[in-house]
Amino acid sequence: MPLVRVRDVSKDFANGVRALEGTSLDIEAGEFLSVLGPSGCGKSTLLRLIAGLAEPTAGTIDWSGGEGLGRRPDLGFVFQEPTLMPWTTALANVALPLKLAGVARSEREARAADALGHVGLAGFERSYPRELSGGMKMRVSIARALVTEAKLLLMDEPFAALDEITRRRLNTDLLELWQRTRFTAVFVTHSVFESVFLSQRIAVMSARPGRVLSELAIPAGYPRTEAFGTSAEYAALCRLASGRLSEAMATQGAA
Ligand code: ADP
Repeated sequence: MPLVRVRDVSKDFANGVRALEGTSLDIEAGEFLSVLGPSGCGKSTLLRLIAGLAEPTAGTIDWSGGEGLGRRPDLGFVFQEPTLMPWTTALANVALPLKLAGVARSEREARAADALGHVGLAGFERSYPRELSGGMKMRVSIARALVTEAKLLLMDEPFAALDEITRRRLNTDLLELWQRTRFTAVFVTHSVFESVFLSQRIAVMSARPGRVLSELAIPAGYPRTEAFGTSAEYAALCRLASGRLSEAMATQGAA
């Protein structure tokens, strides 16, 4: 049983936009899955539905592969912007979900410090967001999403606004973290290169109204280093994924 099963899901917005139409997708426990598609095809909408932040107009989202029938697994969500509270420290930002859950101060600070260490920010606990670079702020945001020991990490183009070098570094570090912690990762992106570098499987979405049109396995092992990113295998997989994306962009979601 997959961790999350999306079946024939459609989403219409009040303004008449049909973002998704009849889309299905299984998310397997522990995997690194990318959702790849052109801008505006409904990737964020799909992620928000999986998170339970919105309801599908039709179809079902079943979390029964999680902890008990119909119960969502503990999940973390990383948005395109790091969305940190500017008036307080990195530590307090990361500790926020624990504070909201009523965890005692000493425990939440210890766990937040630990989470900051996992994303390479040991020593920056007392820094304010304004003192951190864009990449560091995104690391704080990832630490905040994982501090509750989330089993499912949903990421919506988290590195799109970062420069190329920072983005590569964060890709590598995210994979290291995933290998160490083994959360289930769903990573939305419109970058072929990023999806191939990161994932075990890519779900390719059609143009709006979006649906998952094809799936592509990325059989390369981990860790994926810079050597992988410059290999002939990587280039061939990117060509393959790029071809699938072109097909998908030429296809309207509606069957
Ligand atoms: P993507 O993440 O692939 O870029 P989105 O899921 O953000 O795509 O958006 C899919 C479509 O739905 C777009 O046309 C967008 O304008 C529209 N859309 C997204 N959210 C809303 C909303 N709350 N109300 C109306 N239209 C929306």
